[in-house]
Amino acid sequence: MSAQKAAELWTAVLGDLQLQITKPSYETWLSGTVGLACSDGLFVVGTPNPFVAEMLELRMSSLISSAIERVTTTPVEVQFKVTTVLPSSEETPSRSTASSPPRNTEIVYNSSSNGSSQGPSRGSRSLNPSYTFDSFVVGKSNELAHAAADAVSKRPGVNYNPLFLYSGVGLGKTHLLHAIGHRVLEKGLSLIYTTAEEFTNSYIRAIQEGTTERFRDHYRSADVLLVDDIQFIIGKEQTQEGFFHTFNALHMAARQIVITCDRPVTSLTLLEDRVRSRLSGGLVVDVQPPGLETRLAIVRTKASSLGQQFPEGVLEFLAERVHQNIRELGGCLNRIVAVAQLTQQPITKDLVETVIADSLPSPNHRRVTDEAVLTTVSSYFGIDQMTLRGRRRDKRTALARQVTMYLLREEASLSYAAAGKVLGGKDHTTVLHACNRISQQLLLDAHLRQDVTNLRESLLSL
Ligand code: ADP
Ligand code: MG
Repeated sequence: MSAQKAAELWTAVLGDLQLQITKPSYETWLSGTVGLACSDGLFVVGTPNPFVAEMLELRMSSLISSAIERVTTTPVEVQFKVTTVLPSSEETPSRSTASSPPRNTEIVYNSSSNGSSQGPSRGSRSLNPSYTFDSFVVGKSNELAHAAADAVSKRPGVNYNPLFLYSGVGLGKTHLLHAIGHRVLEKGLSLIYTTAEEFTNSYIRAIQEGTTERFRDHYRSADVLLVDDIQFIIGKEQTQEGFFHTFNALHMAARQIVITCDRPVTSLTLLEDRVRSRLSGGLVVDVQPPGLETRLAIVRTKASSLGQQFPEGVLEFLAERVHQNIRELGGCLNRIVAVAQLTQQPITKDLVETVIADSLPSPNHRRVTDEAVLTTVSSYFGIDQMTLRGRRRDKRTALARQVTMYLLREEASLSYAAAGKVLGGKDHTTVLHACNRISQQLLLDAHLRQDVTNLRESLLSL
């Protein structure tokens, strides 16, 4: 196929992809790409730089292959290759982007200096106003994290730099991070709050636009930098590089950095050593799942903020039953109040029980077996189990196999090794890779999200 044909084909594929992913993602990752060649089931996509190539490979390759497949109606492998030629090779537009102000995907507050007009209003929209120190219930499981966050917010950049908070999901990391943010703003200091994902996006954009200098200056201007969910940059070498330099610059200037992560630093094995050791150079604290007493205190606080009366014993009952994470606890409480109001029934233990049963997976229901996963995926994708367990690698089979691995982990709670065994003796790293890949794809790919939701539903209704 001629190069021109490949380019045209890619334009059509881009049209398809544009419908499937968010505009910012599209613009960051795909708008600068070009179709280079297509032959023998291999489609080569040109990217403006290695960072984009890496990200596309890591996060979008199966999404892209399916899009190509839809357009060409034949399965293809996709390969990303750095090309110096941009699709629209006119000089002017790229110049003008380079000199336009950097697009901040993260939230920037600068309440002290210029623009008091935009600072506070953006602030109140972007930091969750209810995530404050006042609304944070302190118990044994989180007292260290709370104390460290409190200290850092009072004297940023002095002690505990960086502060690294980690815990499982829904245990209050983001809440504490925002609480620090509110207090820093009250002191009139400048703040940048960002997620690792947003950081990555603006870093890539800075590289594309040749504005890395400005990118770094921009971050260096902050008194306090808050980065949520750093686990996102695991395995993304170039982003780690960017993060490392930014981080170093801020650290040298004694600016406070606070980072959250959903796993301990030591388990961030794919994070480059120097980044990791830098992180653990400050103070590392974890938040544990709360004990009953703390859960009860949290439910009571939340209940009183809802302004609703609860009969004796109901809150205790709720705190006893919901113990995994605080987000679920709050969610259940809201639902109980809503259901009681909508159906005009009193709040009783029975009602609490029903709401919990409806909203949390009950231990009995959760016994999803590996056979159930295999059978369900196999019939959903129309691929027989032998093939699923085998080595065939066409896109559809490969995807179904990865989804199987993901569900074996998530729904049947198998270890990576055990999941590999179920699938005909695959290596545990293969399973690990598949699970990461699917988790990432789920963020981007609405079709996959629908498929996985359907599969989950049929598994849980078995
Ligand atoms: P994470 O970032 O660790 O996943 P979040 O900070 O988003 O968790 O917390 C989940 C929910 O639980 C939020 O609504 C938060 O306000 C609430 N929450 C967590 N910990 C506490 C706490 N100690 N006191 C009050 N609310 C809490
Ligand atoms: Mg969070």
